[in-house]
Amino acid sequence: MPHSLVLPRLIRTGSGALGEIGQLLALCGVTRPLIVTDPTMVSLGYVTRLEAALVAADSPFGLFADTEPEPTETSVIAAEAILNAGVDGAPFDGLVALGGGSAIDTAKALAVLGPHGGRMRDYKVPRIVDEPGLPVIAIPTTAGTGSEATRVTVITDPDNDEKMLCMGLAFMPVAAILDPDLTVSLPPRVTADTGIDALTHAIEAYVSRKASPFSDQQALAAMRLIAPNLRRAFHDGQDAAAREALLVGACFGGIAFSNASVALVHGMSRPIGAFFHVPHGLSNAMLLPAVTAWSIPAAPRRYADCARAMGLVDDRAGDDPANEALLDELRRLNSELGVPTPSGFGIDPARWRQLRPLMAEQALASGSPANNPRIPTVDEIIDLYDEVWR
Ligand code: NAD
Repeated sequence: MPHSLVLPRLIRTGSGALGEIGQLLALCGVTRPLIVTDPTMVSLGYVTRLEAALVAADSPFGLFADTEPEPTETSVIAAEAILNAGVDGAPFDGLVALGGGSAIDTAKALAVLGPHGGRMRDYKVPRIVDEPGLPVIAIPTTAGTGSEATRVTVITDPDNDEKMLCMGLAFMPVAAILDPDLTVSLPPRVTADTGIDALTHAIEAYVSRKASPFSDQQALAAMRLIAPNLRRAFHDGQDAAAREALLVGACFGGIAFSNASVALVHGMSRPIGAFFHVPHGLSNAMLLPAVTAWSIPAAPRRYADCARAMGLVDDRAGDDPANEALLDELRRLNSELGVPTPSGFGIDPARWRQLRPLMAEQALASGSPANNPRIPTVDEIIDLYDEVWR
């Protein structure tokens, strides 16, 4: 089967890389960027540092600092008004996204809405948006989504709470800056949620029916970096080596899933996020052990490779013990990182029960479950939601 590989044109990594934004903009031909970020980035002083680098590069810029976590189309429309206003009487010709996946996804949505107009629902899957959009330079401050290297954006439709998956070349950033200094301020909870998101990307990309030799290497490298460093960064946020490993690992995970797709965990996770406002990484973490256990019989060797890459068993271990070690580790990780159950998160049991069929329909409609090694029916997804509740 032919595979298509899509990557950012430039990735600059390492401590202090943020300071090189002026050079990157020049290389990408962007002269008037709009910064897309959130209030936390302003209060941490990161926006001031970015603005200083743009001033030093003599680049006029604008600022939208009101992206919301798990962005809805409403907040994207507010940003669109600023984008359309331009700067110094000229249109913006690019976007610099500074923040977690929410800020980066907002910028990617603007990259398409700016030149092409319409509503985000016009661009959701199954449509593939390959038309050229505005160039996005992504500077992730969480080590999780890998959005800086994916051709994906996720925006919630405020009319029906659907987390819309939008895909295509238009959503691939032209460049990314991976500066681990920006991630040391992450609180332990966000470190855990985003780190498990990145691990889930790597595992799902590796077991995906669309995996290729290229995505396999990225996925395995991501697992090797994330598995030994997630607990370290969770317990000691100042651990610079662990922070850097997680940031690079998350980017590898993004490249892996952007080219191989995610699978059932992500399909089931998006509706939980949309209906119950559970942060994306946390809903993935709630689902990962149960969905992995359900899926292993369809791809035991692939899941065993994940256990080996994560360093849970040595390379000579058989598939069965490797898969037991994998399930054991996913459960222990959730417990050590304080991942709550849906009821522990405060979700109302009656509403969960009532919404399961709709969540299952939305999960299937996203297309992600069809990439899973074991493809579920609606009823099987409902059963899995029941199991995760228990
Ligand atoms: P986020 O961007 O929502 O950030 C979570 C919280 O952490 C926010 O309050 C933010 O202000 C704060 N934060 C971010 N960086 C910080 C830092 N360095 N220090 C202190 N606080 C910081 O979280 P996320 O998990 O990165 O992104 C989630 C979004 O990304 C969801 O909407 C999800 O659906 C989407 N997503 C997109 C892709 C993709 O490929 N486009 C992939 C997976 C998930």
